Amino acid sequence: MAAVTAPPSPSHVDLGGAPTETADPVTDARRVLRWADTTFGTTLCVAASFGDATLPHLAATTIPGVEITLLDTGYLFAETEWFADHLVDRFGLNVRVVHPAPDLDRDVWRHDPDACCSQRKVEPFQRALAGRRGWVTGLRRSDSPSRRTAPLVHHDLLRGVVKVNPLAAWTDDDIVRYPATHDLPDHPLADRGFPSIGCWPCTSPAADADDPRSGRWAGSAKTECGLHTADAVAVRASGADPA
Ligand code: SF4
Repeated sequence: MAAVTAPPSPSHVDLGGAPTETADPVTDARRVLRWADTTFGTTLCVAASFGDATLPHLAATTIPGVEITLLDTGYLFAETEWFADHLVDRFGLNVRVVHPAPDLDRDVWRHDPDACCSQRKVEPFQRALAGRRGWVTGLRRSDSPSRRTAPLVHHDLLRGVVKVNPLAAWTDDDIVRYPATHDLPDHPLADRGFPSIGCWPCTSPAADADDPRSGRWAGSAKTECGLHTADAVAVRASGADPA
């Protein structure tokens, strides 16, 4: 990883130097990760849910030794925990696991999933971002309508970081091709109808083959956990309109 001294405040990072999108989103992903490494060094937080191997592999092979943060809500599938351990062993990933507060009511998800996500995702992840200036996510525009304008890089004003979405423009074909090209393993639930994997109480097999996130909070109006609401106030998109 590149070392940086006296990194600028995230809100003052000139995104004009960030890569812009080309017709090759996979190459763009590596370019923007290298830019993020050079710009943020050890104040970069790469967050991965380990629902698949793509982002951890892409980040670790572009920025050797980069720390990858896994948010363990306390409700991860056992298969996800196994998969993360497997990727650590196979690729030598440098994983940091972040947990929610230890004394939370375990049944909040049953009656108030927004509060549960706030306690088990938003709050611990905000702690994980302390001192960090850049945040790498696995967001893709084709994940869902709410993500269709996700830019490659933008200021996240609510969290006070620059948010980097290296997979933003990846198509479903790109998502299939990358693990095949690099011989990456699948999450154990992938072939059981789970194209998007979160907490076990709130994740079902996808009901709509054209909507990979249709198994997340299925049967309710909830579509996001709250980590990515800052996209609504994003300023300066690279290659996409954040409005
Ligand atoms: S996805 Fe479900 S179990 Fe996980 S934090 Fe949100 S409400 Fe709680």
